[in-house]
Amino acid sequence: MIVEMKKGATQEQVDHVVERAHSLGFEVQLNIGTDKTVVAILGSHTGKVSTDVFTVLTGVENVARIMKPYKLASREFNPKPTKVKAGGVEIGGKKVVIMAGPCAVESEGQLIETARTVQKLGAAVVRGGAFKPRTSPFSFQGLEDEGVRLLARVKSEFGIPVISEVVDIQHIELLAKHVDILQVGTRNMQNFALLKELAKLRQPVLLKRGLAATVTEWLTAADYLMAEGNKKVILCERGIRTYEDSVRFSMDISSIAVIKRFSHLPVLVDPSHAAGYYEYVPSLARAAIAAGADGLLIEVHPKPEEALVDGAQSLSFKNFEKLMAELKPLAEAMGRAI
Ligand code: PEP
Ligand code: MN
Repeated sequence: MIVEMKKGATQEQVDHVVERAHSLGFEVQLNIGTDKTVVAILGSHTGKVSTDVFTVLTGVENVARIMKPYKLASREFNPKPTKVKAGGVEIGGKKVVIMAGPCAVESEGQLIETARTVQKLGAAVVRGGAFKPRTSPFSFQGLEDEGVRLLARVKSEFGIPVISEVVDIQHIELLAKHVDILQVGTRNMQNFALLKELAKLRQPVLLKRGLAATVTEWLTAADYLMAEGNKKVILCERGIRTYEDSVRFSMDISSIAVIKRFSHLPVLVDPSHAAGYYEYVPSLARAAIAAGADGLLIEVHPKPEEALVDGAQSLSFKNFEKLMAELKPLAEAMGRAI
């Protein structure tokens, strides 16, 4: 941590910073410039101490951390890329993993038909929300337990792993029993109580980026999931809120490069929620693969015009087929495969 003193700070004020640092068990290094004094606070436990303990002291101008607040998700902690195995599918390896299916599980027919089709077209994982986090309490909330049962059927009948969102601690047990990957939605990225419970699992968890979260906050949230030894964490960029209103969210394509630089965790992109409209999905999907994403999470519906949730951004089977045909050569050009 670096404590920058105000111009003209007194010797007494500098001494006070040094004493406070020593009282917390830190070493200090003083850099006395012509204008300002800078105090470097050194020690392996700086991450556990808030910058506020120095910010409040008189004569202090600014306090900055040198180390990132996240640890377990960082590349420094684990220099080699992590590969997560989910029901026989490897995420973060050579293959670009396509996860596809409806936003919400709506009926047996809808899920089974979609699962069969996306699998045939090259998807490696089937998605489907059984518990839906809806902005309005009056909107369809998902088929809940019945939805989980249908996902379990897809898994056993089609031999394909399934992913579904967990919105509440009380549903963890049921989901962990029947689905291969538990998804934490954008609205829950910083639901720390939920993350702490999920940390007890040894099953893959996909952590979506909060719609107003920085990459640093996202990776720090990933640390919560890994704090008890679960290494199977997958990140998913799904767009953030900006002033742009022609799309549902702004897909932050640069986050893929940033994650690859600072983290060892695999990162997927969800072009559907970023776009909000099916015609934009292929363009964002192609961009994601070109940027180095390890996979995609795409919403597909047999009849998007009749979907109970997110119909406007869902691809029809025909559009999904067309997209998959475009993505295959693109993945190859990137030295990967689908
Ligand atoms: C979803 O995947 O259906 C979903 C609700 O996504 P997000 O949390 O990104 O909005
Ligand atoms: Mn959705």
